[in-house]
Amino acid sequence: MRWLEISVRVPTELADNIAEVLSRYAPHGIAYDYGPIETDDTDWERPCLPPPILTLRVYLPMTGDWETARQRIEEGLWHLRQVLPFPPPQFRELDETLWEEAWKAHYDVLRVGPFVIRPSWRTARLEPGDLLIELDPGMAFGTGTHPTTRMCLQAIAKWVRPGDRILDLGTGSGILAIAAARRGAARVWALDIDPVAVQVAQENMIRNGVADRVVVMRGSLEEARALGERFDGVVANIVAPVLCGFCERGIGELLQPRGWLVVSGFFHGEQEEIVRRALEAAGLTVTRRWIEESWVALGARRRRSG
Ligand code: SAH
Repeated sequence: MRWLEISVRVPTELADNIAEVLSRYAPHGIAYDYGPIETDDTDWERPCLPPPILTLRVYLPMTGDWETARQRIEEGLWHLRQVLPFPPPQFRELDETLWEEAWKAHYDVLRVGPFVIRPSWRTARLEPGDLLIELDPGMAFGTGTHPTTRMCLQAIAKWVRPGDRILDLGTGSGILAIAAARRGAARVWALDIDPVAVQVAQENMIRNGVADRVVVMRGSLEEARALGERFDGVVANIVAPVLCGFCERGIGELLQPRGWLVVSGFFHGEQEEIVRRALEAAGLTVTRRWIEESWVALGARRRRSG
C-alpha cells in the first residue's frame, strides 16, 4: 500500500482547527512536530523572535476514495487560510516501508494518568505504580496520542476495578483493552471490524503478556451480544453515527445493572448532543464528561429499571 503524507506548517492560533480538518479525513492519527527548539539565553529578549512553528502531519492511505479525502482537506485548509494566512500543505507519497519509518519517528514514550505507553522501539523508566503499555501501533489506530484515546484511558484508570469484565468495541491497536487488563480486569473482550486491527491488537496482547485475559475478535456489537456476557464496563472510541447505532441496537443491555459505558470519538457541539440523546434513549444516564481539543468523551451508567 502507498501513503500520502500531508504536512502543514501552521500558525499556533489555528492549530486546533487545522488538526480537526486533517483528522476528519485522515483518521489514522496526527503527528505534532514542534521542530528544534532554540535555547539561546542571550537572545530571549530580542523583540522580533519568530513565533514557534508547528508542523502537523497526517498519513492518508492511497486506497478507495483517497483523492476525495485529499480534496476535502485542501478545501478545509483553503477556508482556514482566509482567516489567517499560512503556507499551502506539502504532499509526499510514501511506500509502506517509508511510511512506517516516518510514522515511528513521531512516537515517544507517553504518560496518561497511571499508564506509560511505550512504543516497542523506545525505552522507558518506570516509577512505582506505573502501568506499562507496550505498543506497536502498526497500521491500526490507537497510539495514545489522540485526545479521544487519552480520555478513554483516563476513564479506564478511574472506573475499571480488579476482577471486572470489560468490553472494548473498536479496539484498534488494542490500547484500551491492555489498559483495562493492567488495571486488573479479569477478562476483556476486544472487538474490531477491521481485520488488520484484529491482527495488530492480538500481537499487542502477546507483547504485553495479557493474551490469557484479553480475547481479541473480529466483530462489533452483534458479536459482543452473542458472547452472552453482562459487562461491568464498555468502552467504544469510534465515531458518532456508529455509537448512535450501538445505542439504538441496545448496547445498554450488555451492561451489568450498575455497569458503565464510555464513548468517545466525536466533537463537542452538535455531535455531542446527538450522542447524548442516543445514550439517554438507550436507558443510560450521562454522569461524566471529558473534553480535550474539542473532542469529547462521555461516561454513562445504566439507569435502574423498575
Ligand atoms: N480503541 C482505540 C482505537 C479507536 S479507532 C483507541 O481508543 O485509540 C476506532 C476503531 O473502531 C477502528 O479500529 C475501526 O476499525 C473500529 N470500528 C469502526 N467501526 C466499527 C464498528 N461498527 N464496530 C466495531 N469496530 C469498529
